[in-house]
Amino acid sequence: MSVIEIKDLHASVETNEGRKQILKGVNLTINSNETHAIMGPNGSGKSTLAYTLAGHPKYEVDSGEVLLDGVDILTMTPDERAQAGLFLAMQYPVEVPGVPMTNFLRTAKTAVDGEAPAIRQWTKDLTAAMKNLRMDPKFATRSVNEGFSGGEKKRAEVLQLELLKPKFAILDETDSGLDVDALRIVSEGVNRAKANTGLGIMMVTHYTRILKYIKPDIVHVFADGHIVETAGPELADYLEENGYDKYLPEGATESA
Ligand code: ADP
Ligand code: MG
Ligand code: MG
Repeated sequence: MSVIEIKDLHASVETNEGRKQILKGVNLTINSNETHAIMGPNGSGKSTLAYTLAGHPKYEVDSGEVLLDGVDILTMTPDERAQAGLFLAMQYPVEVPGVPMTNFLRTAKTAVDGEAPAIRQWTKDLTAAMKNLRMDPKFATRSVNEGFSGGEKKRAEVLQLELLKPKFAILDETDSGLDVDALRIVSEGVNRAKANTGLGIMMVTHYTRILKYIKPDIVHVFADGHIVETAGPELADYLEENGYDKYLPEGATESA
């Protein structure tokens, strides 16, 4: 059993108009085997929370702490956070020309585990995981994300998730740009990772669509840089019907 605790987290970013505070006191605890949905209007700071947890250099922590099994991760580099068991799937995955998927995955696995995986088992696991995600074996030799469609990028990320076996995964808009078939395949991958390893999941999403495939235990509404409401899965049903208007400043509506 592992636990990640986010305590009164404040973070900001340097913009053209100066420093802008985006996270304004985030409190959240996620245990192994729990799926938390973080839902909220566009621009509320959901991706900023994901990037801040992953250690993206653009996002500066002003105060608060994030503990993974009692250990402060905010002083760690992104690599060290990954070694500690944190995994981030970004809303916009980066392309890495010239680096084939197989090399990338094996290097990542070696870095996270602190030793290279035994080659035969690794090849078996990789082949099985790609088959589960209905990925063409040719993907193994292609450069990371280069020329991948939106759906292929998401599959490649879930492939990483299944092979790296982190303790906690942060999924940022994993449903964006996926057709129904791809959404189902990607969701099955996340569900497999949870069933196999007891993964804890923080699933950031604007829409309720993915929650039909990856069932949240707890739903949080995120608005203006912090969590404003927490409830069970029924809260997602409320949002599906009513949107986020209730959580926006007086008179504002979602521009979608
Ligand atoms: P969400 O993911 O909920 O849509 P974001 O975290 O992407 O929200 O953005 C929250 C706010 O912070 C937005 O107003 C956005 O424009 C601003 N922001 C986020 N990252 C940056 C950045 N790197 N530079 C300038 N502004 C940013
Ligand atoms: Mg957004
Ligand atoms: Mg976002």
